[in-house]
Amino acid sequence: MAWYLNNYRCYKCHRYWATDWSCACDDECPYCQARNATAIDSVDLTNIVVQENDAFIVLNSPPTAEHHPDYWEVARFSSAKLAEDFIETLDREF
Ligand SMILES: [Zn+2]
Repeated sequence: MAWYLNNYRCYKCHRYWATDWSCACDDECPYCQARNATAIDSVDLTNIVVQENDAFIVLNSPPTAEHHPDYWEVARFSSAKLAEDFIETLDREF
């Protein structure tokens, strides 16, 4: 599993919402409770970069994550560019 931010648009009331979850799965509309709305877009948040003072830390949501991302520190870099390049190599491996 991984971690995703899913964007939804309700097929009944046409409103938008977003949830983060461990899969790009269907959701229930929070406005009219229409079931099985399909995500129109999913942003992969499995690997993210956070800044802490002068360091850019790569966090990973492990395959065991289910209800929370359970982020753990993979590596830290001196620039955001290096951290993002590192994530690209991770994405290639998985
Ligand atoms: Zn709805």
